Amino acid sequence: MNVGGSRARLLVMAMIVSLWKNFKILPINIINKIDTLFFCLMLYNRDIRIEVSHLKSNILLLVLMIIFITGCNGANNEAIPYDTSNLEVKEVTQLTKKSMIEFEEVEEVEEIEEETKDETETQDEPEKTEKNEEVKAPEKTEQKIVISDEDKSNYNISDVDQKTGLYIVSNPSSIDVYLNKNRKLPAGYAPNDLVEPDVSHTKPKGDERRLLRKDAASALETLFSTAFEEEGIELAAVSGYRSHQTQTNIYQGHVNRSGQDYANRFSARPGTSEHETGLAMDVSAAVVGFALEQVFKETTEGSWLADNAHRFGFIIRYPEDKEHITGYGFEPWHLRYVGKSLAEHLYHNSLTLEEYFGYHIELNN
Ligand SMILES: [Zn+2]
Repeated sequence: MNVGGSRARLLVMAMIVSLWKNFKILPINIINKIDTLFFCLMLYNRDIRIEVSHLKSNILLLVLMIIFITGCNGANNEAIPYDTSNLEVKEVTQLTKKSMIEFEEVEEVEEIEEETKDETETQDEPEKTEKNEEVKAPEKTEQKIVISDEDKSNYNISDVDQKTGLYIVSNPSSIDVYLNKNRKLPAGYAPNDLVEPDVSHTKPKGDERRLLRKDAASALETLFSTAFEEEGIELAAVSGYRSHQTQTNIYQGHVNRSGQDYANRFSARPGTSEHETGLAMDVSAAVVGFALEQVFKETTEGSWLADNAHRFGFIIRYPEDKEHITGYGFEPWHLRYVGKSLAEHLYHNSLTLEEYFGYHIELNN
C-alpha cells in the first residue's frame, strides 16, 4: 500500500479499534468516542485527497473508514450491545435536572407568594378585569374520575368536573355550603334571593357587589348597627356577591396576564369563589382607606369584627395560620355567613369549614 506515514498510522489504529470493538475489549462508549476522534482526525488530515496517483490507496482508505465507522458488525451478526447502564445514568441525570428545574420553579413561586401575599392568595380580586372571554376549562384529566356514592353524601358532592378535576357541590343554596380550591358550584347556579343590605357601601349604586342573599344581608345589617351602637364602630361593605361571569372575567384576566398555572394558583377558578354564593362580604373601614389588607386586623374595627362576627352568624372564613387547610391566606376582612349556631360553634372551637366537615384540602396545584 502506497500510503503516507501519518495516514498509515491512522489506518493501523483504526483497524485496531475495529478489532477491539468486535471483540468488545473496550466499553462501547469509549470506543464510540475514539471512533469520532479518528473520524475527525482523518477528515482533517491533509493527506486525504482524492488524487489520481493515490486513487487506489484512497479508495482503500475510504472502504476501511466506512467499515470501521459502521462498527464492523457484520462479523458479529448482532447489534452492538449498548451500554444501558450508561443510558440509565443519563436518564437519571436528566430527571435530576428536571426535578431541579421544578424545584427552582417552586422556589420562585414561593418567593412571589411571599412578596405579594396580600394581593395574590386571595378570593378578593382587584377590580380591573379584561375583555369578556370564555374561559377555557383548565385541561387536567384524561381518565374519568369516579367518586363513590358514600363520598358523595359524606362530602356534599354531586359529581366531579371531568375537565378540571374539581368536586361539584351538591348543596349550592345551603347556608353552610363551602367551596374551596377543590370544590365548585354546579354550572349555572346563581342565588335567587339576592338583596342589597342597608349598610354603608364603597361600591357605587347598582353594582352587583353590593348584594348578598337575603338572610346574610339582614344579618349584616344587624352586625353593622350593633358595632356602631356598642362601640361607635363604623364599618363599610366593600365587596359581596360576584356573578359567575364576573369571576370568570377576573380569572381570565389572570390567565391572559400570567398564564393558566399562575391563575389557578392565585385566583379562584370560576365557580370556586365564595363570593359567587352570595354569602360572603368583604368588610373594611375608613381608617385603612377601605383596603382589603391584613393590616385591617390591627384596627379597632378589624379586631371587633374578629371577636363579634359569630354573634350575627358570620365567620372570618380564612383565619390566620389555617392557610394549609383553607388554601387561602389570612383574610381578616372576608366575612362568610353560615348562620348563628354554626358560626358560634366554629368560633368557640377555632374551626374552619373544612375542619368542621372533616375535609382537609389537598391543593390541586
Ligand atoms: Zn372576600
